[in-house]
Amino acid sequence: MDLKDLYRDVILDHNKRPRNFGRLDPCDSSADGNNPLCGDRLTVTLRLAGDRIEDIRFEGKGCAISTASASLMTEAVKGLDQDAVRRLHALVHEALTSAVDAPPPEGLGKLAALTGVREFPARVKCASLSWHTLAAALAHRDTASTE
Ligand code: ZN
Repeated sequence: MDLKDLYRDVILDHNKRPRNFGRLDPCDSSADGNNPLCGDRLTVTLRLAGDRIEDIRFEGKGCAISTASASLMTEAVKGLDQDAVRRLHALVHEALTSAVDAPPPEGLGKLAALTGVREFPARVKCASLSWHTLAAALAHRDTASTE
């Protein structure tokens, strides 16, 4: 199995069985994200322990890439402090926007599967929506839009 197949399988799996799907109630912060280009909408709710994300959920309706990306994100950021989240967000941004044949940046773990999206520039916003929405929630803004 080559890397592309592996990446595709990760995306398909997380779309079919999204992790941390739902809503935390009560929560410390939440934000709604909207990607009008594709019609993806999602809500991120989280609980904080000091500076650390103690728990996170997402729900919404979107394409396979936006759902899989949000699912992968919730797995990756649970337990991280806000600096670590910002560093990971920067790596994801790099992975989504670098040249199609560039190797994924170090330290992405399973999120490396998102590099497959680079071949479809119109879908980059689908993959980045959950990260923008998380950033909005951490900044205690209510909404995020990719436009
Ligand atoms: Zn989409």
